[in-house]
Amino acid sequence: MKNRDVLISGAGIAGPALAYWLSGHGFTTTVVERAPAPRAGGQTVDLRGAGRTVIERMGLMDRVREVSVSQRGIAFVGADGRIAARMPTELFGGEGIVSEVEVLRGDLGQVLYEATVPATEYLFDDTVRGLEQDDEGVTVTFEKARPRRVGLVIGADGLNSAVRGLAFGPHAQYVRPLGCYTAWFTVPAELDLGGWFLMHNAPGGLVASIRPGRVPGEVKAGLSFRSTPIDYDPRDTTSQMDILAARFSGAGWEVPRLLKAMRTAPDFFFDPIARFASTAGPAAGSRWLATPATARRRLPAWAPAWPWSAPTCWPVSWPPPAATTARRSAGTSGCCARTWPAARSRPTAA
Ligand SMILES: Cc1cc2nc3c(=O)[nH]c(=O)nc-3n(C[C@H](O)[C@H](O)[C@H](O)COP(=O)(O)OP(=O)(O)OC[C@H]3O[C@@H](n4cnc5c(N)ncnc54)[C@H](O)[C@@H]3O)c2cc1C
Repeated sequence: MKNRDVLISGAGIAGPALAYWLSGHGFTTTVVERAPAPRAGGQTVDLRGAGRTVIERMGLMDRVREVSVSQRGIAFVGADGRIAARMPTELFGGEGIVSEVEVLRGDLGQVLYEATVPATEYLFDDTVRGLEQDDEGVTVTFEKARPRRVGLVIGADGLNSAVRGLAFGPHAQYVRPLGCYTAWFTVPAELDLGGWFLMHNAPGGLVASIRPGRVPGEVKAGLSFRSTPIDYDPRDTTSQMDILAARFSGAGWEVPRLLKAMRTAPDFFFDPIARFASTAGPAAGSRWLATPATARRRLPAWAPAWPWSAPTCWPVSWPPPAATTARRSAGTSGCCARTWPAARSRPTAA
C-alpha cells in the first residue's frame, strides 16, 4: 500500500484501538466520528480474554483499572424488589457475569481516545458521504470536511456502519437481529444498590437492570426485550423511547421510574442485539471462512437463512489459520478484500 494514510470511521472502541496500532506501525491515521466528542454511554465492558490482552499490550491496564467500576456481583430481584438470588464477582474464578475488571464503555472509549490523540487526527461532528475506490486507494468525501485521498478506509462505526452501507450496500443484507433489543442510559442513583448489579426478569421476555456507575450519584439502567425484528429509526431516540415505554408498560420493580428517567438521560443508547457479516459478497482473489455450525444453531428459528459466514476473509494465497474450528462453506469462496495485493504476506500480530 503506497498511500499509508488510513481513514477510520467511528471513534467508539474499535476505531481508536485500531488507530493506536496502525499509528505505531507507520500509518497516518484519521478517525471521523459523527458525534461532537467521544460518545459516553453503554454499560460495562468485561475486560477478559483477548480484550484484556490487547489493553495490556497497549500499556493501558493501569489507566483502565483507575476508571473501572467496583461491583460485588449480580443479584436477581422480583417485581417487589426482593432479592431472589446472587452471583458474587468471585464466582467462577472472577469470570462470571460480572467479572473482576469491568469498565464503562464510555470510560473505555475515553481512555482509548486519550491514548491515541497524540498520533491520530480526529474529525468530530462529521461523517463519510462517499467512497470512490481505484487500484491506488480511495477518494473520500465527507459531510463537512474537504475530500481526501487515502490508502485505506476502515468502518468501525458500529452496527449501522456508514462505511459498510456505502461500500457494500443496505444494512439489511448484513445485520442479523438475534431476537432481542436493548437500551442503556444513565439515571440518578435513587436506589441503594449496595454495589450489586440488580436485574429484574419480567414475564414476556422483559429485562430491567440497574448497575453501579463510576460517578457518585448516578447509575446505569438497562431495558431489554425479546422481539421479532422491528422497524425503528436508528437516529430518532424519541421513537426508540416510545417503543420501550410501550413494551415495558405495566412492568414492576423500578421500571416506571426508569422509563421516566430515560426521557432525560444524557446518553440514551438503543440497538438490536445482532450479528453481522462485515464484508461484501464474493469477489475474486480471496476466500471466506464458514461460520462454526454452533453459530447457526444459536439463531432463533424465525431468523432468515444466513447466506454468509464469519466476517473473516483473506486472499487465497494465504493458508487458512491452523487454529480455526470453522469450516469453509460451499459457494462462499471469495471476499471483499480487493485492496490486499495477492502476493502480500499475511500480517502478523505485533
Ligand atoms: C453509546 C453506545 C452505547 C453502547 N452500549 C452498549 C451496551 O451497553 N452493551 C452492548 O453490548 N453494546 C453497547 N453498544 C454497542 C457497541 O457497538 C459495543 O458495545 C462496542 O462498543 C462495540 O465497539 P465498536 O467500536 O465496534 O462500536 P461502537 O462503540 O458502537 O462505536 C461506533 C462509533 O461510530 C460512530 N458512528 C456511527 N455512525 C457513524 C457515522 N455514520 N459516521 C461517523 N461515526 C459514526 C458512533 O457514534 C460511535 O462512536 C453501545 C454503542 C454505543 C455507540
